[in-house]
Amino acid sequence: MSTLDDNLKKLDRLLDRFRKRGIPNRIAGQDTDGGAGRFQTVSPVDKQVICDVARGNAEDIDAAAKAAHAAFPAWRDMPAKERKKILINVAEAIEARAEDIALCECYDTGQAWKFMSKAALRGAENFRYFAAQVESARDGQSLPSPTLMNVTTRTPLGPVGVITPWNTPFMLSTWKIAPALAAGCTVVHKPAEDSPLTARLLVEIAEEAGLPPGVLNTVNGFGEDAGRALTEHPLIRAIAFVGESRTGSMITKQGADTLKRVHLELGGKNPVIVFDDADLERALDAVIFMIYSINGERCTSSSRLLVQDTIREQFEAKLVERVNRIKVGHPLDPNTEIGPLIGKTHFDKVTSYFDIAKQDGATIAAGGTTPDDSGYYVRPTLFTGANNAMRIAREEIFGPVLTSIPFTTEEEALSIANDTQYGLTGYVWTNDLTRALRFTDKLEAGMIWVNSENVRHLPTPFGGVKSSGIGRDGGDWSFEFYMEQKHIGFATGQHKITRLGA
Ligand code: NAD
Repeated sequence: MSTLDDNLKKLDRLLDRFRKRGIPNRIAGQDTDGGAGRFQTVSPVDKQVICDVARGNAEDIDAAAKAAHAAFPAWRDMPAKERKKILINVAEAIEARAEDIALCECYDTGQAWKFMSKAALRGAENFRYFAAQVESARDGQSLPSPTLMNVTTRTPLGPVGVITPWNTPFMLSTWKIAPALAAGCTVVHKPAEDSPLTARLLVEIAEEAGLPPGVLNTVNGFGEDAGRALTEHPLIRAIAFVGESRTGSMITKQGADTLKRVHLELGGKNPVIVFDDADLERALDAVIFMIYSINGERCTSSSRLLVQDTIREQFEAKLVERVNRIKVGHPLDPNTEIGPLIGKTHFDKVTSYFDIAKQDGATIAAGGTTPDDSGYYVRPTLFTGANNAMRIAREEIFGPVLTSIPFTTEEEALSIANDTQYGLTGYVWTNDLTRALRFTDKLEAGMIWVNSENVRHLPTPFGGVKSSGIGRDGGDWSFEFYMEQKHIGFATGQHKITRLGA
């Protein structure tokens, strides 16, 4: 197994080129400067500048949208077998560079190596999974009527925009880009300004693996200029967005004039409900994993623990013991379980909840401190003695911070679980099957796991309800978004046509 020292040495070699040349935009297979100059990306690990990044503006987006538009007909009309082969080549190339991707991701975002080394492989898996479906993507139905042979087929939408956040950016980008390309769309990607490194690696890897120039274009920059321009561009047919609920609402408004199709994967304040009849050891493992892995910077994290009052004391005591043992450290140390948060603004936001919790009358049972200020490190934190009206129970903190809320009855648990603006995921721990059936039927969430942590299976629908989003990813749902349904009716005979003016 590689050590922190090994990883740092390898990272240094990788960063050398970024330090020398910065990160340009990639449009139509060419490197270009940003129309608004450059900005610097800073590592949350040591607060050091990593490199300069092109700061894209509306002109860059225009050039990228035109490139995606120009590349579209050839990509759409490429025989499915060829497109499939290219996407498999991309998956293989990602696998070959998985270590480089993970090293850059850890240093750029603060995510721990423990999780990121697998995230790159999951990115490859996204390409493999959707490549396998390229050949059937256009399939439709036959719906004959008495006078017509009605058939349906699907066609790719055209150039689409993909706007991604900074938490696990590589995996999330591939999650959107792979199905878009498999459907036959071309893409303009606007990665998060806080994590540009692996978006650059992705476009390089894809082009080296044979993706034609202009099929995937990457424009760096900020949401309010590059992001906004992408959502407003008339050549861009749809926006696939992952990020905050507030931004999702802005994107919907910005896209209104050009009637953009939007797919929004937004925030969450997801409940994990632990009943006293559950396997409490497994529930404990899952509760800890689902809020403290990936630095708690995870849309599907279970940030509200609803625990039955009969077991609350013992469950919270065990939780405190385990949370205090979670290893916070350099993300490239293979033993690290929690690395630093993405940056100063987010660090200030997350740590502000330590005071908010106290003001609201909750108890900080674990954490609530920042171990050292070399980077944006936060100790995993547990709030107890909370109720669902407190800000720590209502607002998405998006860090390694868990709020524990007791309940007495199943009805009360359901009411607390649903009393939130969000509805992304829910986790239910009980060994009572009929209760699990009743409860999951009424729980307002796009995805629910019973006696399990979140285990992603690509054929299943991923997405949220309420303020957590609109639309679904995965399986054929991704193609439903990136493709247009077309109906064609062929007359089977000489049916009567109503004659006007005859
Ligand atoms: P964010 O909304 O601040 O930014 C996301 C992206 O949107 C960035 O690329 C940003 O530059 C861009 N952007 C910002 N303003 C824009 C605008 N006006 N027009 C166009 N683009 C704009 O989100 P973040 O802080 O980077 O990410 C964290 C959030 O993402 C959390 O709320 C988290 O729950 C959510 N998230 C959701 C999922 C999911 O699948 N539901 C997955 C991961 C993250």
